[in-house]
Amino acid sequence: MSFGRVLGHERVKEILARGLASGRLPPAVLLAGPEGIGKRTLALALGRALLCERGGDDACGACSACHRIDRATEGLPELREQASARPDDAAALNLRLHPDLVLAEPWRLTREGTARAKPEIKIDQVRNLVREIQARPFEAKARLFVIDDAHLMNEEASNALLKSLEEPPPTSHLVLVSSAPQNLLPTIRSRCQVLRMAPLPSGLLEAHLRDSRGLSAEEARLRVAMAGGSLGVALAFESDSYRKLRAQALEMLVRPVAGLVALEAAEQLAELEDLPLALVALRSLLRDVAALRAGAGRGQLLNMDLADELAPVARGPIGERAAALAERTGVSLQALRGNANRLLAADLLVEAFRTAR
Ligand SMILES: [Zn+2]
Repeated sequence: MSFGRVLGHERVKEILARGLASGRLPPAVLLAGPEGIGKRTLALALGRALLCERGGDDACGACSACHRIDRATEGLPELREQASARPDDAAALNLRLHPDLVLAEPWRLTREGTARAKPEIKIDQVRNLVREIQARPFEAKARLFVIDDAHLMNEEASNALLKSLEEPPPTSHLVLVSSAPQNLLPTIRSRCQVLRMAPLPSGLLEAHLRDSRGLSAEEARLRVAMAGGSLGVALAFESDSYRKLRAQALEMLVRPVAGLVALEAAEQLAELEDLPLALVALRSLLRDVAALRAGAGRGQLLNMDLADELAPVARGPIGERAAALAERTGVSLQALRGNANRLLAADLLVEAFRTAR
C-alpha cells in the first residue's frame, strides 16, 4: 500500500512524504482521528515507504522490502492467529511485517489463554518494543514501530514507553494510532507530532465504493449515509460480524422491551464487542423501517434481504417512530464515538425504545 492507494487524507500524506523525502521524519507521530478512516493503513504505508530500498518520498512497490511487507500485510489474520496461540510471548504478540516494521495491537488474552473482558496493550509488549526501539535496523536503513489503539496502554505501559520517546535512536521511528487521543498520557502526547485525520468526505467515499468496489450508485449512497465518514464501516456491511450484529439489532425491533428486560437489553447491548457497529446496524434497519412505512419499495432498502422481517415492524408501533428512533440511535453513536460511557449510551437508547411502545 503506497500513499497513493490510501484513500483521502491528502494533507497528512503530504506532511509524511515531505518528512521522508528530506530524511527528517519526526521520531514519534500520533495519528489521531475517528475509527475506520485509515489511520493504521496510513501508518503501515509510512513504514513501507521508510523501509523501501529505493527510498524517496513513497514506496516503489517493486523491491523485496515492499513485496515482503505486502505479503505480511495480507497475511495479518494468520499472523494474529499464530500470536494468539502464545499469549506469554510478548515478542510474538508484537506482529512483525518485516524485521524492521513492527505492529503492536491490543489483545484480549490472559496468561491462562482465556479471553479478558477488555482488550489492552500489555506491559510486556511495550517492554519488548522499548528494547526493539533501541536496536539498530536489521536490514533496512531505518525501523518503524506502530502502536495501534495506543490509548489502550495502561499507565504502567505508557510510562515504560515514555523513556523511549525521550531519546530514540535516529534510525527508529514510532507511530501511535488512536481514536481516543485524550486518553493518552499528556506526557506521551506532547512528545509526538500530532497529525489529526478527519472522517472521509462523503463524495470521496461514494466514488471509491462505486469505482473501486463495484457497488451500484444507490447502494454506495446508502452505505455512505450510514458510515459516518468511515471506509471501515462502509465496507463492514458485507462482513459476517456485521451480519451477526444486525441480527441482534433486528431482535430489538421485533421483540417487545419492558421493565427489567429493558435493563437487561441495555446491559447486553453495552457488552457487545463492537457497540458502534451494532448501532450502525440498528440505524440502518430503522432507516429501512421508516422508508417502508413511507411506502418505499424493496429496491430502496439498505437491508433488502430482510424486507420480509422489516415489513411487519414498519406496520407496528416502532414503524410510527422509526425515523425518530433512527435519529436517537445516531445521537448515541455520536456520543460513543466521543467516548461516552457505553452502558449509559445503551441505556438511553433502550429507554427510547421502551417509550415507543
Ligand atoms: Zn520498494
